[in-house]
Amino acid sequence: MKVLVAVKRVIDYNVKVRVKSDHSDVDLNNVKMAVNPFCEIAIEEAVRMKEAGTAEEVVAVSIGPKVCQEQLRTALALGADRAILVETDDELQPLTIAKLLKAVYDKEEPALVILGKQSIDADNNQTGQMFAALAGLPQGTGASKVTIDGDKVNVTREVDGGLQTVSLKAPAVVTTDLRLNEPRYASLPNIMKAKKKQLDVMSPADLGVEVKQTFKTLKVEPPPERQGGIKVETVDELVDKLKNEAKVI
Ligand code: AMP
Repeated sequence: MKVLVAVKRVIDYNVKVRVKSDHSDVDLNNVKMAVNPFCEIAIEEAVRMKEAGTAEEVVAVSIGPKVCQEQLRTALALGADRAILVETDDELQPLTIAKLLKAVYDKEEPALVILGKQSIDADNNQTGQMFAALAGLPQGTGASKVTIDGDKVNVTREVDGGLQTVSLKAPAVVTTDLRLNEPRYASLPNIMKAKKKQLDVMSPADLGVEVKQTFKTLKVEPPPERQGGIKVETVDELVDKLKNEAKVI
């Protein structure tokens, strides 16, 4: 079984995000970038399938500017066999990414495509679902457990009130939730080996996809500064403040 894993480059989750002074976007200047955490989980799951003998090849794909090669090299260091960069400097939105992934899927014909359930920068939670719809594939979203049984991909999902397990017939799409696994760290020897692994670069035009935007960002604003708290002396004072200042009771 071949597994295709979609890997997005995002701001490292430890970084405090700054907004550009003209409020047009988030400031990416000199900011540490990383693999989207849900995509790390996707890579880990695919690599574990390879280690378990259910997957033969793990291919990582990223769409974006040339620097996304860094995140693909990380995927290769974590155990992916080869990587594909669909290189573009244009603004990317989920529908275009889904179309590009569909074009890569058509070329590669994997039995399983694993994506993160969400990118932590834009919080879209759209690409996996759009891709599955475009490719006409069954999807198991927000997976907290995945098992492979022949051509069946069983996906357990955390839903309101418990766990739901769905069975998909491969080829299928899975998006990862946080509790699916705990990704490993790349070892130094594997980081070195990853430098020599195959990384193919293609353009959206090579894949016959036009990069289009379906929405326009009007404004990006940081969250309002939190006011400092105060200490009250008595319960009566607390009740008074809740009633007359916060007006919540
Ligand atoms: P989103 O719909 O933006 O929340 O992203 C969900 C998932 O889609 C991510 O975790 C990735 O697996 C995949 N994805 C989104 N954008 C990209 C991208 N530019 N390149 C590769 N995969 C992506």
